[in-house]
Amino acid sequence: QTDEQASACDAAVKVIVRLRPVTSQKIEGSSVARRISPDTLTVGDRIFSFNSVLDSGSTQEDVFNFVGVPLVKDSMAGFNTSLVAYGQSGTGKTYTMWGPASAMVDDPCINESQGVVPRIFQMLFSEINNIYNEQVNDLLDPMQHNHLMRDNVKHAFQVENFTEEYVNNVEDVTQLLVKGLSIRKVGATSVNSKSSRSHLIFTCAIESWRKVSSSNIFVSSRTSRIILVDLAGSDYAKLGDVGKQSILEERYIKQSLSKLGKLVNVLSDASYMERDEKVPYMDSCLTSILQDTLGGNAKATFICTIFSGERYKTGTLSTLRFGERAR
Ligand code: ADP
Ligand code: MG
Repeated sequence: QTDEQASACDAAVKVIVRLRPVTSQKIEGSSVARRISPDTLTVGDRIFSFNSVLDSGSTQEDVFNFVGVPLVKDSMAGFNTSLVAYGQSGTGKTYTMWGPASAMVDDPCINESQGVVPRIFQMLFSEINNIYNEQVNDLLDPMQHNHLMRDNVKHAFQVENFTEEYVNNVEDVTQLLVKGLSIRKVGATSVNSKSSRSHLIFTCAIESWRKVSSSNIFVSSRTSRIILVDLAGSDYAKLGDVGKQSILEERYIKQSLSKLGKLVNVLSDASYMERDEKVPYMDSCLTSILQDTLGGNAKATFICTIFSGERYKTGTLSTLRFGERAR
């Protein structure tokens, strides 16, 4: 059995939980979440099981091995793939996806704290080296953000006017990532103090070209997509009813996270799927961007980040329930 076949047999949705290490037990409270086996954890007397549970001692490389390597293999086999980090603010979504800011700028090949996204691109390029023509679609223009939100209101969402760049190597991608992350930072300080109030979405298309025999003509033979998402903090999904005072931005975050939750519910509901009703992909920007990678013949992975401190318990339970439904 080849890798390709093995991967085709794998589940369409995988859910991995990662516990963030405790930095100050005094401030953060005693631990309520405990990993009890490679795929199980408990919160109080409640037991949750997932594809994997990575303890607070897990390294960035562990995450890459569990999540990144299969994603690259699936992408190379022609599957659309996505990786979505879901969790409360401060639980390690950005750290897991990107690593600390310095890890992106320092030599990405030797920095062990770099996140799963730069690692994915390193592996991707070392795998595809001379066969493929690569293309990255990205959200580098901050104005596009507003544009997407406007479209969302009209429920006539369409991805258009994205900045789109061709990349030939890891350095090209790193440059784009750094640029995108710095724009997110600027946006965060000018509008509010927290970058966790935005979704960061990085989309990449791998297009393969086939040479028409005995000619110099190449035809596009296959395109697979990779979508990498560092979500806004799930705590923003629980701001209570959307009141008059709540700013537009909060409303969008709340809406899009709840639409994602709804989509995940629908996809995991066999009876809904049997009824052959319309799957609610077009309800929000986020879900429509994820459409090709979630459900159907695609591979989606959720990394649910949690923090075991007592004070985080409510959010932890809600993140784990989300993960449980997604599976
Ligand atoms: P989020 O994006 O979910 O809001 P962050 O990724 O910003 O959370 O993480 C919050 C803080 O915790 C950051 O200072 C980050 O560097 C640190 N952190 C998160 N996960 C880890 C980890 N696994 N190991 C070490 N530090 C971490
Ligand atoms: Mg973050």
